[in-house]
Amino acid sequence: RVKGKWAATHPKQPPTRMALQHFDATYSAQLGALWPSIRVALLSERKYGALLNHFSHNLDVEELQAQGCKDFISNGEAFMFPASADHRSEFRPEEDSSSVSTVTHGGGSRQPSLRLSPNIRCLVFPRGDITRFRPARPDKFGLLSYYLLDAASILPCLALDVQESHTVLDLCAAPGGKALALLQTQSVRFLCANDLSVSRTSRLKRVLQSYVPKALLTDDKLRITSFDGTIWGEIERNSFDRVLVDVPCTTDRHSLMEDDNNIFSRSRVGERRCLPQLQAELLLAGILAACPGGDVLYSTCTLSANQNQAVVQQAVQLAEEQHGIQLQVISLCPLAQMFSNTFHFAPNLHLGEMVIPHLAANFGPIYLCKLRRLT
Ligand code: SAM
Repeated sequence: RVKGKWAATHPKQPPTRMALQHFDATYSAQLGALWPSIRVALLSERKYGALLNHFSHNLDVEELQAQGCKDFISNGEAFMFPASADHRSEFRPEEDSSSVSTVTHGGGSRQPSLRLSPNIRCLVFPRGDITRFRPARPDKFGLLSYYLLDAASILPCLALDVQESHTVLDLCAAPGGKALALLQTQSVRFLCANDLSVSRTSRLKRVLQSYVPKALLTDDKLRITSFDGTIWGEIERNSFDRVLVDVPCTTDRHSLMEDDNNIFSRSRVGERRCLPQLQAELLLAGILAACPGGDVLYSTCTLSANQNQAVVQQAVQLAEEQHGIQLQVISLCPLAQMFSNTFHFAPNLHLGEMVIPHLAANFGPIYLCKLRRLT
């Protein structure tokens, strides 16, 4: 029999172990037979991609290519359009993917094509190759040649489909990997990069200064703010052509690997339980900030359906009930097909797409869902 006093002094479980127990309980139910393989990948070393910095004078591409790296974006296009002369072809999302104000797929209106920016390039080592990238080097102006990130986190930026002269809001922007990818398109007329955390916003500024020439970081092109994104609707409504809502989440990989700053620590239980509510508020604020006709991209780095599909469903419902805003879910199925050689996607997701970690392609998890404001 365990005595109370002894039990009270028994060492506490570290947050990484708490996270694993939580994921085993919830993801085995949610993901079924997929979970054991995803679990092994999540507990193994992750794979990075090198987002090339077009503003740098030494891209180091040849050296990386000599090591076997390839740009997964143009490779995906070559796979989809082998006979196309212009490999940055337009492709049309499937026709049966529209839905107005509900988040089930159905209907039949034709959706405009998604054009991938020719300027976003991300190099990865081949499947099964876990070679690490060496740190990027600065050019003669001090601009670094590439930014290392989970290659799957480029997908939300591609899916956002930024076009010439667009205004873009990145509601939760720090440390800035996706903001940097969006700037690589060289199509953004004005970027507003926001993050609640002042210290993380400072990091975002440092990242942009290390990669982007000063001339492109002027006040007429870039605004960096530290507001609570949930109240953005009170600041600016119906304004942006594109809005990225890359929310705080349980960051599944980090939670399994690092005890520091872990959302599964006892002191953060309340914060963790409130995440879906916060995420829905942020997505709703992003929807309000977009202009009618504009697109909103919701993304996370968790496998949790409660933080992914359920949040999108809740925000779409609130947008209609509280603000009379009708939304259309844009299918990202063609994007998933295009990049299925590089990433593993969860099968049969009823809403959005999700990259699931796999030992041979250990990227993700990344969930993404695209919404278009119809009104
Ligand atoms: N998009 C970033 C990137 O690509 O580097 C990563 C964003 S990270 C997943 C989520 C961010 O949301 C964190 O930097 C966190 O500080 C920020 N955040 C948390 N609560 C917020 C809020 N209420 N409003 C705005 N940002 C918030």
